[in-house]
Amino acid sequence: HDIGKNIVGVVLQCNNYEVIDLGVMVPAQKIIDTAREVDADIIGLSGLITPSLDEMVNFASEMQRQGFEIPLLVGGATTSRAHTAVKVDPKYDGPVVWVKDASRSVPVAAALLSSERRDRLVGEVTADYDSIRERHAAKRGERKLVRIEDARANRSPIDWDGYHPPRPAMAERTRVLGDYPLAELRDYIDWQPFFNAWEMKGRFPDILNNPATGETARQLYEDAQRMLDTIIDEGWLRANAVFGLFPAHAVGDDIEVYTDDSRTEVLTTLCNLRQQGQHRDGVPHRSLGDFVAPRETGLPDHVGAFAVTTGLGSADRVQAFKDDLDDYSAILLESLADRLAEAFAERLHERVRTEFWGYAEGEHLDNQELLKERYDGIRPAPGYPACPDHTEKTKLWELLDVEATTGIQLTESMAMWPGAAVSGWYFSHPKSQYFVVGRIDQDQVEDYAVRAGMTLAEAERWLSPNLAYDPED
Ligand code: SAH
Repeated sequence: HDIGKNIVGVVLQCNNYEVIDLGVMVPAQKIIDTAREVDADIIGLSGLITPSLDEMVNFASEMQRQGFEIPLLVGGATTSRAHTAVKVDPKYDGPVVWVKDASRSVPVAAALLSSERRDRLVGEVTADYDSIRERHAAKRGERKLVRIEDARANRSPIDWDGYHPPRPAMAERTRVLGDYPLAELRDYIDWQPFFNAWEMKGRFPDILNNPATGETARQLYEDAQRMLDTIIDEGWLRANAVFGLFPAHAVGDDIEVYTDDSRTEVLTTLCNLRQQGQHRDGVPHRSLGDFVAPRETGLPDHVGAFAVTTGLGSADRVQAFKDDLDDYSAILLESLADRLAEAFAERLHERVRTEFWGYAEGEHLDNQELLKERYDGIRPAPGYPACPDHTEKTKLWELLDVEATTGIQLTESMAMWPGAAVSGWYFSHPKSQYFVVGRIDQDQVEDYAVRAGMTLAEAERWLSPNLAYDPED
């Protein structure tokens, strides 16, 4: 959900900079050609999901190769000062500056375009990045990983003996929920990320009563409530979902998904990574594969998949607001569509637990308890820390025929379109939990590439944020 980039645009424009927003998923050459055409003073890139990180590295190399000297600004949810310093900055001789949040974009742009202040800022940034690079290089040597066999021998301790995997209550394998009532989703909204997206600091709901910023926060919240009323009353957004519950077994770290209960024909195999960092004694090396009954147990376990969107219909209206020079409403609508998509994921997960899979019939949690995940089971999202390989989304799309059933497309870089969308897997085991795969070594990546049907180079590219080694060494 990339609200930040829009806010940067608005904030810069309010400070009299001319901003040319090329939108999302723009090819490098188009950005470069446009920068030439309009004689841009600065290029800014925003990165939403991990594949964008690699794209930024490529982009910096292209700026270098094509003889640019203007500053490159880097920002967005997945980017970091460390990544910018270690991976992006070395590729380009011009200034590369990581911008922490939208409010920083104005002073940074101003300094970079001022003949007096530019050298000082560039000097400070270079010194900062040099020290980050040094620390990074030092840490690399000392951070030891365990061999993948040893990590596997230390899997999550789950006793399958006497465990009864819950049988899905619904008879069909997949189900589509089209045109879902938005009014029902409203109560499931998590407002905290809404204020984060608007770069308002503080905890909801206290943020509404903060003496310094409460008034602005309240105004924003009231505008949001009013727009939600209209979205619901006038049907501005369409909500679609698809989900499925499939017979499955864990086979090694992977999960085999079967066509039916006979469990003879493999529909697809979900590939999982396993933690390889050194852990204290007694701390397991986790993999999502640990949470499904292993084939040897013979237990008839299942795994689920889902995709939801509330973004259908928003693009035209957002554009209409922009044409009207009403950026505030455009951003408000986008940020509310994002909130509704997350609320839909929450509501659907609840219905799956209590109704469609039905293993938690007696569950009664209020919104706060839901947000604190006080329920059995998880819904990890491909591209997030427990399953960082974004390409697993292609399997999810095939399993559920997501594009045809919901209208959500998967782009080449594995982003979902429209952006107000959420997808993931369902695990029912009460001991399933979120964790961070973190750094992985070449022994695991080689094995994973074979399982996932990729070349080693492809696997290293998709997993580059997790590699504990430099594939170029
Ligand atoms: N209430 C939030 C949405 C929940 S964020 C909002 O409205 O924005 C938590 C979600 O992120 C989880 O449900 C899961 O889908 C994903 N997630 C969090 N940690 C994860 C991890 N370590 N691995 C995989 N997915 C994770």
